[in-house]
Amino acid sequence: MANKIIATGTKSGLMALLALASCTTTPTQQSQQTPTAVEQKKSETNPLLAKWTGPYGGVPAFDKMNLADLKPAMERGMELQLAEIEAIANNTAPATFENTIEAMEKAGEELNRAFVYYGIWGSNLSTPEFRTIQAELAPKISEFSSKISQNEKLFQRIKTVYENAQKNPLPADQQRVVQLVYENFAMEGADLSPEAKKRYAEINKELSSLYTAFSNNVLADEENYVTYLTKDQLSGLPESFVKAAAKAATDRGKEGMYAVTNTRSSMDQFLTYSNERALREKVWNTYYSRGDNGNATDNNENIAKILKLRSERVKLMGYKNYAEWRLQNRMAKTPENAMALMNAVWPAAIARVKEEVADMQKVANSTSKTKITIAPWDYRYYAEKVRKQKYDLNSDEVKQYLELGNLTQAMFYTAGELFNFKFTPVAEGTVPVFHEDVKVWEVTDKTTGQHIGLWYLDAFARQGKRSGAWASPYRSFTTFKGKETVLASNNSNFVKPAPGEPVLVSWDDANTFFHEFGHALHFLSANVKYPTLNSGVRDYTEFQSQLLERWLSTDKVINQFLKHHKTGEVMPAALVAKLKKAATFNQGFETTEYLASALIDMKLHLADPNGLDPDKFERETLAAMNMPKEIVMRHRTPHFTHVFSGEGYATAYYGYMWADVLTSDAAEAFEEAPGGFYDKEVAARLVKYLFAPRNAMNPAEAYRKFRGRDAKIDALMRDRGFPVPVNSSKK
Ligand SMILES: [Zn+2]
Repeated sequence: MANKIIATGTKSGLMALLALASCTTTPTQQSQQTPTAVEQKKSETNPLLAKWTGPYGGVPAFDKMNLADLKPAMERGMELQLAEIEAIANNTAPATFENTIEAMEKAGEELNRAFVYYGIWGSNLSTPEFRTIQAELAPKISEFSSKISQNEKLFQRIKTVYENAQKNPLPADQQRVVQLVYENFAMEGADLSPEAKKRYAEINKELSSLYTAFSNNVLADEENYVTYLTKDQLSGLPESFVKAAAKAATDRGKEGMYAVTNTRSSMDQFLTYSNERALREKVWNTYYSRGDNGNATDNNENIAKILKLRSERVKLMGYKNYAEWRLQNRMAKTPENAMALMNAVWPAAIARVKEEVADMQKVANSTSKTKITIAPWDYRYYAEKVRKQKYDLNSDEVKQYLELGNLTQAMFYTAGELFNFKFTPVAEGTVPVFHEDVKVWEVTDKTTGQHIGLWYLDAFARQGKRSGAWASPYRSFTTFKGKETVLASNNSNFVKPAPGEPVLVSWDDANTFFHEFGHALHFLSANVKYPTLNSGVRDYTEFQSQLLERWLSTDKVINQFLKHHKTGEVMPAALVAKLKKAATFNQGFETTEYLASALIDMKLHLADPNGLDPDKFERETLAAMNMPKEIVMRHRTPHFTHVFSGEGYATAYYGYMWADVLTSDAAEAFEEAPGGFYDKEVAARLVKYLFAPRNAMNPAEAYRKFRGRDAKIDALMRDRGFPVPVNSSKK
């Protein structure tokens, strides 16, 4: 899941970038345009700042990208936006929605455009030259956003509008924008006394060094602790792994040996396939000791300091603890709600582990030469053996039915049925692209033919493109200054085939393809007036995309699109049944290793940070939770970078499961409907309440409107093959 990074769907690349880098959403910025600012804009000649021209309301000039323009464009864009912000802050007229909030929503057009190109270089076309520029710009961007969030006069005007709106409410969408903008500023300490603000800034500075130290320590332990194998120690390992390990050893000057690097993918494969138990133990220990080796790169002290500083910072603003502060504008709202969900699933997860271990112990008893008891370093190895016995799934056979072109058509079909969208390829050359592999479709309404937006697909891996799959918008839907239509993109890393050869993908990759398309549909279906209303909510934004994955295995998609690339034969029912059955396999392990991390994340931030010893805390808390001894946390505290190398996922790791509860529950709304997954009435409610409003509606309220009630965990329990609790708690 972690590799499915998405932009949070806000108005600009800036927002997306900051949302990825840290969880604090940057306040949206805006201004009234002073004559000077307008004049300055007219004279902008940098192509990366220029207004988008051409068809479809203007499109990014991806054909005119020149890296030499990037730094000046970004610097100029920030300068222009700061001038706009100053004009808003210094306005002598009383603060109103129009002259403050709406003006902020308008500001920064040039910078937003520059950020789109910045994002392309960062994710799709990276080079060492770009990374040098990126490193130079990073502190400037951070300084730029502080200048806005710390602007005292600006905040006072926002506060005035907010307080007036509390007394005399504005139209619903304006009221929501004011609330989100005000909360964002207030959560960043804008309302503090000058003294408290000073301390606040000091804390943030200290924290940022600690975050860097934390992630550098993890990185150092990943790079420095490598397990080298000799040829006689390769038993059980797949050929592809052996080849990669040989190269990794050669790269490290150990020609003729084989390196198991200290990363998740390397560790995971080694533990799954290696027949050498003692080596499995060694590799396991090395991996799960990252940041916890009692040497110069040990992170325990950093964790203790980070927790203390976070606590001090939120106490300046009057919060009891960090978790309370962080969750206030999330769907979960309170740490208690998030904990209730996790505690409701936990007992079933650890009970399932017992069953999984018993299955594995049987296999071990019948195959191992010596008598062993399943240990953490045996879990993946014996789980794989059980999987083969129970499911007999041949992943290569599955791939023959998953051809990329067919899958793309399957997604278009789904979008047509649910959203009434039609996808038509645009003629080559009419819309500029940044690489010849990128293809573009126009999205229109199936009935009216009305233009909705464009969808860009950059499907193939290449040097300089980041790994994984993601979705990002180049432009989001707004109407407050004339209608702006959506430019959405999906990006993946399929291996480009030889000309004329089909692209065949795995079941997991096909799911991910649908997942990212779900994010794109969330962008494309937006119907909001203001940019801020396009912003994402961390425990909610993965829900829409996760839900879309469900259409891959619907009968209509299977029968029309999952066809053998040579024979055209539809994927056999027996194979589909096997895939569905395999979905609940090993859920004890997966849910437990995930939940243990999510629970520790939350508990660490609820505990009193004074005198807290992270190592002891982790050990004692897990013991009190009855953590199965055969499993370790997915991310142990000393290398939990989600939580300690920044604030992106601090007290937010639960969010994956929160979104998954909604996913399972919403999927059942379709299953229960007369038309199943293609029920027109449920689809209409889905679009109306859960996609189109983005953040214009409180997510919990929106969900209630869709479902007629709050989401229940029952469906999630069924999906994971867990028993449904009798008094299932609502969330
Ligand atoms: Zn996603």
